[in-house]
Amino acid sequence: MHEALTVLTDELRRLKAAGVKSVPVTDASLAALRRVVQARAKGASAPPAVEAPVPASSGTGVRGSVAGIAPDGPASRPAPAPAPAAKIAPPPGVAEIPPPKPLTLPAGDKPTQFAWLVDRVLNDEVCKSHVRPGKKVVLGVGSLEAKIMFVGEAPGAEEEIHGEPFVGPAGQLLTKMIGGMGLKREEVYIGNIMNWRPEMPVNASGVQYGNRPPTEEEMRYCLPHLRAQIEIVNPALLVALGSTAAQGLLGFGTFKALGEVRGRWREFAGKPLMITYHPSYILRNQSNRSKRMIWEDLLQVMERAGLPISDKQRGYFLDK
Ligand code: URA
Repeated sequence: MHEALTVLTDELRRLKAAGVKSVPVTDASLAALRRVVQARAKGASAPPAVEAPVPASSGTGVRGSVAGIAPDGPASRPAPAPAPAAKIAPPPGVAEIPPPKPLTLPAGDKPTQFAWLVDRVLNDEVCKSHVRPGKKVVLGVGSLEAKIMFVGEAPGAEEEIHGEPFVGPAGQLLTKMIGGMGLKREEVYIGNIMNWRPEMPVNASGVQYGNRPPTEEEMRYCLPHLRAQIEIVNPALLVALGSTAAQGLLGFGTFKALGEVRGRWREFAGKPLMITYHPSYILRNQSNRSKRMIWEDLLQVMERAGLPISDKQRGYFLDK
């Protein structure tokens, strides 16, 4: 068991050094780990039946946090600033990313342009070459008439299976947040900076172990696809979810901690841009304070988009 824990710790250190902020871990694995650590702290030998921690088996889009790896939200304890995306190195063996290709939309109405873009991105050789067999390249979804466009980081395990952004647990929470704003998921547009799930090592069964944030080159390669979606949809405003999306839009290394830029209006592609926390942050930090912080950002979004706001909505997550 000591050896297994050492191997696990070494692997987490390696991932952290590579810029990985979180790995998905099942509740059962976390509970098993806790039992081992507690048993060791008491000086007892670890219970023999405890299994080594495994990644969430069906995979989730959640980028869960592990001790010592900074969450994508307000720090509840002093934590090292997340490494800027520019310094993230892909695991060895991941093919180099070429410079982005220029992209000019064809003339036509929105559905025509969108159909052209879907075909182009789904058949893009670079995107396809980074997707493992049976998994999908992921483009945005939603209303082409949306006033609000949400921009996330990259597909996770659920998203690469379904070929749709934000369908895992973080996506379900995002859908609830959109509902809180008085909208349906189909009334907004949801995209990502990246069109494929950034590669991580696979385990013996060929299952990818965890998620990592995209590198600067990966994001730069995919950015024309996001710009084209903005051009087609022409939303009134954009909402960046989490620090990786914000880095991708504002520029790499433009801030160290998300708290520096969150809750304030910026601009991207000529559109007002609100930066807020990623829904997976709330999944890891269920405090009213965290929920209220995101909600305040979304109230600003609703105001700017001209959506009606009831007293009840204004009062969400306020401590009574
Ligand atoms: N997290 C993201 O940033 N995007 C997704 O599509 C899913 C999870």
